[in-house]
Amino acid sequence: MSGITSDNTILYVEDNELNRKIVRDLLKRTTYTLIEAFDGEAGVAKAVEAKPGLILMDIQLPKISGMEAMRQIRLVPELAATPIVAITSFALSGDDQKAKAAGATAYLAKPYSPLDLLALIRKLLPEKD
Ligand code: MN
Repeated sequence: MSGITSDNTILYVEDNELNRKIVRDLLKRTTYTLIEAFDGEAGVAKAVEAKPGLILMDIQLPKISGMEAMRQIRLVPELAATPIVAITSFALSGDDQKAKAAGATAYLAKPYSPLDLLALIRKLLPEKD
């Protein structure tokens, strides 16, 4: 891990408050620090500012989509290798391939089990004590 990243910080870009609350509650029992953004533009800005250790990216977002936000994030050298989990509200055929082409490391379709999400997070960003 590069010393410039906030290794234990997770950025969640999601416009839906209920979904944000689910992830907030999920991560309360962990040592991860959660930061949030509510639209695609703010998500890119917060990623650049905070250099999180992992990004959770909703796809359907105001202003710019999660797909476009991931493309912009991948252009930032310090964020080129940051794990990004793309989360989509409806699994369309080919969505996972599109998300990976836009820069996603992994892909999760809603509804997902919060424990599956936590396992994926821990795999991509091992939790610190
Ligand atoms: Mn959304």
